[in-house]
Amino acid sequence: MDAAPRRGNNNKRRRREEDSFEEFVSDEEGGGGGSGDDDDGSSLVSSARARVLSSPPLSTLLASSISPALVFELSSREKRARRATMTTHHFACQLPMFMPVGTQGSVKGLTALDLENARVQLILGNTYHLEQRPGSALIETMGGLHNFVSWKQAMLTDSGGFQMVSLSDLLEVSEHAVTFQDPATGNTTTLTPEHCMQVQNRIGADIMMALDDVVSSTANDPKRYEEATYRTTRWLKRCIAAHKRTDRQSLFGIVQGGLDLALRRKSCEELVPLNLPGYAVGGLSGGEDKANFWRCVDASLELLPENKPRYVMGVGYPVDIVVCVALGADMFDCVYPTRTARFGTAMVSSGLLKLRSRSFANDMRPIEAGCDCATCKRYTRAYLHTIVTREPVASSLVSVHNVRYMMRLMEQIREAIENNRFEAFVQQFMRKQFPRVRANDDYAVPYEKMEEDGRAPVWVREALAKAGIALKS
Ligand SMILES: [Zn+2]
Repeated sequence: MDAAPRRGNNNKRRRREEDSFEEFVSDEEGGGGGSGDDDDGSSLVSSARARVLSSPPLSTLLASSISPALVFELSSREKRARRATMTTHHFACQLPMFMPVGTQGSVKGLTALDLENARVQLILGNTYHLEQRPGSALIETMGGLHNFVSWKQAMLTDSGGFQMVSLSDLLEVSEHAVTFQDPATGNTTTLTPEHCMQVQNRIGADIMMALDDVVSSTANDPKRYEEATYRTTRWLKRCIAAHKRTDRQSLFGIVQGGLDLALRRKSCEELVPLNLPGYAVGGLSGGEDKANFWRCVDASLELLPENKPRYVMGVGYPVDIVVCVALGADMFDCVYPTRTARFGTAMVSSGLLKLRSRSFANDMRPIEAGCDCATCKRYTRAYLHTIVTREPVASSLVSVHNVRYMMRLMEQIREAIENNRFEAFVQQFMRKQFPRVRANDDYAVPYEKMEEDGRAPVWVREALAKAGIALKS
């Protein structure tokens, strides 16, 4: 059930997000429980629901929605870019946001304290890995994944289907289930939508993803895409029926359709009437051409509801995130910031620093001047150059920086949308990523090549133009 759309810039009513973050953490600690698992009706979701329902005047500009375990409030918008709050059982997330990926409930190389210091709002758990070890039954007896790994902010679990398919030998996809074999052990596993929900309900994350029929975006098999798209809808209905903790956990549906825009639109049309708390765009970021990538994101976002969170799965390159925010996306996840850190690559505003390079051997500067992360406050590029890919602590130090870089990028995006200067932010961001002339002391390499005429890649300019932003050269 959706609340009536309402008017007004809620910025004044909303506390500054930094304040609310600290306040929430200290409230939780003060409350003694720490898990947010209260039943006294004073939960975050109840408060957000009351706030939305008591909000006066109506407007079609700023929409909101109330689900049993999630409240979405759009607070400002610039062109298609959106600034919103998504309140879940454990945490009120400020959108747009980036979500680091934890494997067994932990993000590689980082402690929960590191993640809190970086101001991470939500971490992903991999259902497949968690079910392998320690198993969802044990996690449930420990009071859920939040308690088990000591994480107080929000959590999201994937369906497990993607990992199972990508890590295993796929044996069969039928209407009933997906069956695969672990190449290492030879064990065969069958995953149904019902089992997927049971495992995710035991794990207890704030947001759960429906089991979808995943086909690689480079498969180039129209028939298989079509079959998978319609099966994803049927499986989603089974997931909805099997979901047993609707008061604490919210189920998101996933738009499929391969690279076929008509199929993407059809998928949206089938999913939206199911009135889920949120929607994801799946099946992308798998090596497809960028021109296809942004057109599929655009076609899906155009048809997803204005008053629900929109999550584009598997996106972690800053340029891609900025483009997707411009097209109207709110949530992103990727292993990229922590994975690339383990290979000694740091993310900065002008691109990537490959710290193994000899150019950093005598560089006494921090990774990025002005960065407020624990690594930049203390260590030089020269020191990191000496230890990257050699000492395990180097992975952690560079991960601390990269995750904080991503959080700061999202903070800047949110602030820009709030102040109606997102377009100016995009111009400035892209100029730094794709400069005509690089400063002599800037050793960063770009994420991707500029065009030969020195302008940002064609796909970036085309996607932004569709979002109403004409990139200045
Ligand atoms: Zn830093």
